[in-house]
Amino acid sequence: MEKIEISNRFKLTYGRMPDASLIQLPAHKTVAVSAMDIPYIRPKLLVKENDPVKTGTPLFFDKRNSAIQYVSPGTGKVQKIVFGERRRLKEVVIALDNRDDFVRFEAFDSDQFETFPKADIIQRLQKGGLWQCFREFPSRDTADDTHTPPMIIVSLNGNDPYSPEPGIALGKNAALFESGLKLLKCFTPKIIISARSDSLATLGKLKQHVTHVVSDTYPSWDPGVVLYKLKTSVAENQSWCISAEHLIWAVQLLLTGQYPVTKVVTVTRNQDKKPHMLIRQGAPVKDIIGQIKANTLITTGQFNGRQVDPDSHIGFFETHLNVIPDIPNENMFSFIRPGFSTPSASKTFISSLIRTPKKFDCNLHGEERACINCGYCTRICPVDLAPSFVMKALASDDIEDALGYGLWDCVRCGLCSFVCPSKIELTQILSKGMDAYYKDKQ
Ligand code: SF4
Ligand code: SF4
Repeated sequence: MEKIEISNRFKLTYGRMPDASLIQLPAHKTVAVSAMDIPYIRPKLLVKENDPVKTGTPLFFDKRNSAIQYVSPGTGKVQKIVFGERRRLKEVVIALDNRDDFVRFEAFDSDQFETFPKADIIQRLQKGGLWQCFREFPSRDTADDTHTPPMIIVSLNGNDPYSPEPGIALGKNAALFESGLKLLKCFTPKIIISARSDSLATLGKLKQHVTHVVSDTYPSWDPGVVLYKLKTSVAENQSWCISAEHLIWAVQLLLTGQYPVTKVVTVTRNQDKKPHMLIRQGAPVKDIIGQIKANTLITTGQFNGRQVDPDSHIGFFETHLNVIPDIPNENMFSFIRPGFSTPSASKTFISSLIRTPKKFDCNLHGEERACINCGYCTRICPVDLAPSFVMKALASDDIEDALGYGLWDCVRCGLCSFVCPSKIELTQILSKGMDAYYKDKQ
């Protein structure tokens, strides 16, 4: 087991860690497939409102590759199809029946994937709605099925500091995970399995497969950071990644012919300690977070992720919801208060010296200002970028310079935006730059 260290470390103590217990939520009335958390997809609908669907019925496909389908995680009727600006598909909502009727996909009768044609495996995963589990660097678009990845990184931890504990989310599926490793060998001989150091104790049998241990400092377990630390050639920039949970789903689909429907999620909010929750894929956000006050912001990550509406549904890649109160008023004389619980990377507050839990709210405490070259963003970036330099190159439309400064290594972790005293949305600016360049090249 090798150790991966990141030089720029930042640790923040939050309100409450999710509890280590696991509860099953009551049956949901609706589920949905969201198109909002699938990067670069150009969806083409295959259903219309009121159509009956089974669990596994394709709802839409990707126009860029019509073989890649996205399927229903429940049985019932298409209740509504929600569009956003410029008729961009947001989600397809299914009103659930109280029984499951599965589409039966073709299944393999053993887990000896090495002996099956690779094309067969790809075709079954694409038809069964799970090819999207494989993401390809540097953009993290859905993997190109014609490529042979130089390396596949399997991440046992989710994207957020408080994503579900792998021991809880995957604990009983060690055998399926082992089959998953055989599956990955069909694509490349170089498989990296990374885990956070503080998760090792809970991994049980899965621990023996971990090849690289990363620190518990966000976002060192992100597959992009792992790739940045391990890559030795330019070709490795086209490696793939997959989460351990998705790898297990892929094996379940291939061995049973049934689309897997459950997943484990966590919720964090100030002064609250929720357990891990077993839900159906695409469950309603309000079923997961429970009661909330007006003026509350819900995001799918502490530092990155998207803002979600309580009436929407959780996405395929999302395993965490973060609930933050929206406090519009500034604290009077906050600049002379000690700031025991102020979440900040700056040394101005006492909170930087003590490990008391920090309280998050939506207040920016100021407006965007010009960059003051303080260097905070550079000191915090896990992949050693100088985000302010990249931002300035993008602002002057010099994409070559931005790429030269390492734009494609950015893992969109959100830390640079979090620490910037000038309130510059660096992550958003870099993300837009990457997306525009990638779409242009396609
Ligand atoms: S989002 Fe900012 S801090 Fe995170 S990797 Fe990108 S440039 Fe670095
Ligand atoms: S943290 Fe903000 S103000 Fe400081 S160098 Fe980076 S972009 Fe400029």
